[in-house]
Amino acid sequence: MLGLMQNQPMMISSLLTHAARHHAKGDVVSRLNDGTIHRTTWFETERRARRLARVLQTLGVAESDRVGTLAWNDFRHLEVYYAAPGMGAICHTINPRLHPDDITYIINHAGDRVLFVDVSFAGLIRQIAPRIAESVRAVVMMTDEAGMCELALAPGMRLRCYEVLMDAADEDYAWPRFDENTASALCYTSGTTGRPKGVLYSHRSTILHAYAGAMPDVLGLRAIDRILPVVPMFHVNAWGIPHSAAMTGAALVMPGRHLDGASLAALLHEERVTMTCGVPTVWLGLLQHLRSSGEKLPTVKRIMTGGSATPPLLVEAFGADYGISVEQGWGMTELSPVGTYNAPKPAQVGLSRQAAERHALKQGRILSGIDMKIVDGDGKELPWDGVAFGDLMVRGPWIASAYYGDPPESALDADGWFATGDVATIDPDGFMEITDRSKDVIKSGGEWISSITLENIAVSHPAVAEAAVVAARHPKWDERPLLLVVPRPGHTIDPAAVLKVYEGKVAKWWLPDAVVVVPELPHTATGKLLKTALRTQYRDYLARGAEGPDSTHD
Ligand code: AMP
Repeated sequence: MLGLMQNQPMMISSLLTHAARHHAKGDVVSRLNDGTIHRTTWFETERRARRLARVLQTLGVAESDRVGTLAWNDFRHLEVYYAAPGMGAICHTINPRLHPDDITYIINHAGDRVLFVDVSFAGLIRQIAPRIAESVRAVVMMTDEAGMCELALAPGMRLRCYEVLMDAADEDYAWPRFDENTASALCYTSGTTGRPKGVLYSHRSTILHAYAGAMPDVLGLRAIDRILPVVPMFHVNAWGIPHSAAMTGAALVMPGRHLDGASLAALLHEERVTMTCGVPTVWLGLLQHLRSSGEKLPTVKRIMTGGSATPPLLVEAFGADYGISVEQGWGMTELSPVGTYNAPKPAQVGLSRQAAERHALKQGRILSGIDMKIVDGDGKELPWDGVAFGDLMVRGPWIASAYYGDPPESALDADGWFATGDVATIDPDGFMEITDRSKDVIKSGGEWISSITLENIAVSHPAVAEAAVVAARHPKWDERPLLLVVPRPGHTIDPAAVLKVYEGKVAKWWLPDAVVVVPELPHTATGKLLKTALRTQYRDYLARGAEGPDSTHD
């Protein structure tokens, strides 16, 4: 027997109509390219999104067409975020920090029909226009008439101005209802190995993720909150914040392209932001600025950090010196993206400061609605003892089942689990901690050594600014850890002194076989260490005779 409840599809447009109707005056604030502040409301955003849906119609965009964006976090990008899926099309956010060849590949693979482009990416478009002319019919510069630039495009591609199109359109548009499983947005993984792959979200997955993300033990968003996503809307849906904010009526403050410590501090302060979210490098920049300027951020209560492991310094310094709680989340493009969040359970409430700071380095508990497990090389589930580490698997309604263009369910195993490619422990309280990417783990004599654990210890040495541990081939042990370190400005690094910091922290056989001092380390477009390049470069380092201390598994 079926239930007798209303069968209304979950539509992304309903988030915005809710915000417009029930939080009409809620602020939507953007810092524009020239540094000025643009203010609007949830009411106005919905009105303009309807107008933009009409614009999309005049541009020939139909259901299921891909609408690409190359844009910063601002009000126009937010309008595309809602207008494209709202009318049944697909909002395809493109990461402008990728290599132009990857961007070209992504646009062609997605088959974008129209591109919405911030004027700061005009040069990029000029460069790639001839190579995307097969699919892209129009490039809409996200500016007003005065801000338009000259741009020679390929034959058949038209250059349009966002505000001119908006002025010519009307708002006489009713958001349609359709199957909630309809595709709503497309985002390509950053592609540290091989070509980027497309993750295709649906209305249903987006709404469920927005609910889970807004919950008290995650973003904990309320209508009186003011949230600033530093995490870009061009990658992983800005962690779902544009949706969770509309759902809760929280004010949304968007930083545009101004992501340095000073600009962020000013915006956080002037806009009375209560919660902000981004990757660790952003917070290190903010911390540096606060320390040198002596400024404080009295309104900010919480910083959510994720995308890569939280450096202990962030938790300690923001907590002790600024009264701001730094909370870690973990996720990936394929998870919409948030999978876990580190919020305390009763067992963590009375922890000493030192124990709480250590606990904050864990990636957190699974969000309600999805599930996780860790497995060994044979697929056997491992215990939740905080020690055993294995491949992290996830499943749930906002997790990808296949990549764009691939056969259905092809990203899942026979039981419907998705392999994250991360290696992790889970403790008895259900807190997951990443110990490595599965490709980065060092397999020494058949046993696993966590590269991330070794990197975290290396950066606790005062002369080390950044560290990477990669597997180097070894005749006896197959692979051994090799430590690459970048000195802090004005410091020199003594390899023996760096190895000394490992004493008592890891088993002797985990010690890196060699320490190499390098001026810098390569990073991906999303700021993660580019380990593939390092592995290729240093794979034979030990075999070339640079072997370090005699390593044993005792
Ligand atoms: P992306 O799809 O580009 O967001 O990358 C996802 C990957 O980033 C994950 O599989 C992890 O390897 C890494 N990642 C995300 N959040 C964290 C975190 N809090 N700590 C460590 N690694 C993370």
